[in-house]
Amino acid sequence: MPIYEYTCTPCGKQFEELIVRKSDEAQVVCPACRSAEVKRLISRPAATPGSGDGGGGGFGGPSCGPIG
Ligand SMILES: [Zn+2]
Repeated sequence: MPIYEYTCTPCGKQFEELIVRKSDEAQVVCPACRSAEVKRLISRPAATPGSGDGGGGGFGGPSCGPIG
């Protein structure tokens, strides 16, 4: 269930909306002014500090614990 970030055109408020169904996108309204004139912002990529290309590639790095 992706959470999209929206910005309201009339009042400029930014808010996040949980989109369960595709049809929910058409029903998103501003929580402040109840306007349907909202724009969906580009979803922010996950924060990946130290990400760079040209790495060796492979799993088994230091982590907080086993995944899965
Ligand atoms: Zn608004």
